[in-house]
Amino acid sequence: MNPLAASKPLPRINPDNQPFWDYCRRHELRFQKCLACGHTRFPASILCPRCYSREARWILSEGQGTVYTYAVYHKAFHPAYADELPYVTAVVALSEGPHLLTNIVGCLPKEVYCDMPVTLVWEDIDGSFSLPKFKPVRQDAR
Ligand SMILES: [Zn+2]
Repeated sequence: MNPLAASKPLPRINPDNQPFWDYCRRHELRFQKCLACGHTRFPASILCPRCYSREARWILSEGQGTVYTYAVYHKAFHPAYADELPYVTAVVALSEGPHLLTNIVGCLPKEVYCDMPVTLVWEDIDGSFSLPKFKPVRQDAR
């Protein structure tokens, strides 16, 4: 593990997102699905942004999606990321609907493209957080 990983900024926990990060620590990517209108939302919130219902359940994502947009970082805006340059930050559109700001790993930055099929992988940080990241779905994977 990168010795600087622990010094990276970590997600800020609040009562709305606490369940999301608890599920992530168990390597379960879950989103709230509104029981009134069926909208699947991210980030987590107490109310459905479409119909204002408070009733929701946490559905398990299949972890499949496509790159909606991305950027390749060639400059470290935080010193803990300096040895990872260049790296890819992306918005991944999940098959369940939510769009997640994340990283694309497991390939060269130049291999990333919009609409690229990606699948979920986990990066564990000190046992306190597991971050959902994505890698390419290789058509020629064996
Ligand atoms: Zn709703």
